[in-house]
Amino acid sequence: MKWPKLRELREAATSVVRGPYTASFPAEPTPLPQQIRGRPTYHAEGCIGCGACAEVCPAGAIEVRDERGGEGRLTRRLTLHYDVCVFCGECARSCATQSGVTLSNEYELSGFSRAEMVETVEKELVACELCGEPIATLDHLLWIYRRLGALAYANVTVYLAGQQALGLRATVPRDERKIDRTDLQRILCPACRRSVTLLDQWGPLA
Ligand code: SF4
Ligand code: SF4
Repeated sequence: MKWPKLRELREAATSVVRGPYTASFPAEPTPLPQQIRGRPTYHAEGCIGCGACAEVCPAGAIEVRDERGGEGRLTRRLTLHYDVCVFCGECARSCATQSGVTLSNEYELSGFSRAEMVETVEKELVACELCGEPIATLDHLLWIYRRLGALAYANVTVYLAGQQALGLRATVPRDERKIDRTDLQRILCPACRRSVTLLDQWGPLA
């Protein structure tokens, strides 16, 4: 029993000379390890609003909400609740662009309200020209368009979104007529694309 006591005595004597092992946080900043995983941060210029980070988040800390604002403007808002986050880094690892979200070295995250413990990014959504439902964010479609290059012409919605962004196309307003094959050359959601393609291939259902 006397040996542990002697060891403690030796450690106490050593710390008088060397100083304590503990850090003086919060009086002084704690030295951080290189690989620290702190508060996840969105980067609006790198994020395309695809929502992959929310899909892989094991803590369910990322909320994806599509909203319709004034003049029918559609937006997607991603909200990362870092009071729920477990700092695993999966969001950054699985980020489609690898530059949309990163883990910072910020670790001092205490606060008085959970509502303020959020990190958000907002992106414009593209709506289907027939049913008006959101398809994807504009940045997401343009990212696919740029990555595919000439292959983008295999997907009408992707290449039309790309051409519209380049100023080579404008949306032609639609009248009340039934869908016909001219609607093939529109930005469409998968369900409307299917209806128009079936109509074009097989004619109207009896
Ligand atoms: S670090 Fe992990 S828990 Fe936190 S938001 Fe990213 S995926 Fe979710
Ligand atoms: S680009 Fe990255 S950060 Fe942005 S929504 Fe997609 S996965 Fe999340």
